[in-house]
Amino acid sequence: MKKLLMMLLALCLCAGMVAGCGGGDKKAAAPQKALKVGTEPTFAPFEFQKKDSKDFDGFDMDLIRAIGQKMNAKVEIQNMGFDALIPALNAGNIDIAIAGMSITPERQKAIDFSEPYYKSGLVVVVNKDNTTTKSIADLKGKKIAVQIGTTGADKAGKVEGAKVTAFNTNAEVFLELKNKGVDAVIIDSPVAAYYLVQGGKDSAKIVGDVMEAESYGIAFKKGSKLTAEANKALADLHKSGEYDKLYQKWFGNAAKAK
Ligand code: GLN
Repeated sequence: MKKLLMMLLALCLCAGMVAGCGGGDKKAAAPQKALKVGTEPTFAPFEFQKKDSKDFDGFDMDLIRAIGQKMNAKVEIQNMGFDALIPALNAGNIDIAIAGMSITPERQKAIDFSEPYYKSGLVVVVNKDNTTTKSIADLKGKKIAVQIGTTGADKAGKVEGAKVTAFNTNAEVFLELKNKGVDAVIIDSPVAAYYLVQGGKDSAKIVGDVMEAESYGIAFKKGSKLTAEANKALADLHKSGEYDKLYQKWFGNAAKAK
């Protein structure tokens, strides 16, 4: 009998401890929601992985982390092909895509975009020793490398007689140019400028003017409630000066003038 009482007492104590722990948990901050973010990290300085690192670095990565903080959410970034981002949003595999993605009417049919967060455009990059290509007009019938599913790929597709090769990553795109597998690359101007500054200028150069006025937007599944939340966070970051700080960190004044 005594044994039984002791066992009951012990049981009560255990239950009490468990309940106590539960109570403690309740007092702690509500668990943060996780936001699954997709990107394609060969697009420096917007998204890239440093050599031998799996960490995501760049302007977009800082921006989405700051937005996540404002939304009281944990940002979980994952790597995928650029052309896989929109299908992944639609399938619900990711909540957000941020990848220097230009807002286009075509894409707007499939997904929702945040307010524009960066003004961009396209340029032609050729090898330094190329003296005949001065602009896109000289690319007729030439070989052009692009990243698959990008606005650069669309632009290249409109060049008369050009043979366009689409690669999964921009690393391959630039390598193909360096190896002289193609005559030119069509890519976003800030990414081309960064590539040249990071050492690409030893073998490559930008020719002609910046083409197309494109704006980057953060992408969401159509009808997602997150779009308004992210827009509010983005507006707050503009107001507080945090956006400007990030812009300065990644582009500086010199880059602004380009
Ligand atoms: N801005 C271009 C586009 O949206 C390229 C983006 C990228 O290569 N990450 O198509």
